[in-house]
Amino acid sequence: MPDVEILWSSEPRSTRGLEPSANAGQDGYVASVLVVEDERDIRELLRRYLERAGHSVRTTGSGAEALNYLIASPPELMLLDLGLPDIDGLDLLAEAVRSDCGPIIVLTARNAVEDRIRGLELGADDYIVKPFSPREVLLRIDNVLKRGSTATTAAVESFGAGRLLIDRQRREATLDGDPVELTPTQWGLLTVVAGTPGRVFTRSELVNRVRGYEFDGYERSIDSHVKNLRQKLGPDGAAIVQTVFGVGYRLGWSRDE
Ligand code: CA
Repeated sequence: MPDVEILWSSEPRSTRGLEPSANAGQDGYVASVLVVEDERDIRELLRRYLERAGHSVRTTGSGAEALNYLIASPPELMLLDLGLPDIDGLDLLAEAVRSDCGPIIVLTARNAVEDRIRGLELGADDYIVKPFSPREVLLRIDNVLKRGSTATTAAVESFGAGRLLIDRQRREATLDGDPVELTPTQWGLLTVVAGTPGRVFTRSELVNRVRGYEFDGYERSIDSHVKNLRQKLGPDGAAIVQTVFGVGYRLGWSRDE
């Protein structure tokens, strides 16, 4: 997506003069956000954009100070740079997941694929690769907050404007009104990714979560189970269960309100 990526060094000049909330927080979700980022320019830029979008923002460049915040007053959402000078970002992430902190979006360097995967395994809700545009950050924040607010206990969950319905209690899925016959493993895969639409699940995470469904437990065999699941879902199979290259899979359709 090179057209939406803006290098930090040139970004502030090009966006100076934007009106507050010009394109942010479309869905009206605002939160107390903790930004943990040791690079001052990025930190301050994030603060400006988040405040414009209506969020209340605390920032720190110190992992130790972030830990104090997590204990004293956990934020509703945290942006966490994994490359911090004083604490391993993954350790801090693990602490945050154990705390009362809301969703966590991890910021990583482009080449740090392992960090990204590890971050998701530890419980991060999303990740953003540097360099990124502030607009991308705001959209991802909106998505994460929206997911949290639409987490549903409804008997039948609806996705893709009513096309895919999942009834967990009856253990039934229908697509365009037709029942989809799924094996226990396929059902497990579908319901895990549908639990948080848009969130990427790594293969090893899927192995762990689907294991309860009599799954043999090999990471690579996830791929063949996904392939079979997609076939059951027909022409839209690959759009419903999307591949995220180098990371894993996610539900490509969003949950209906
Ligand atoms: Ca850093």
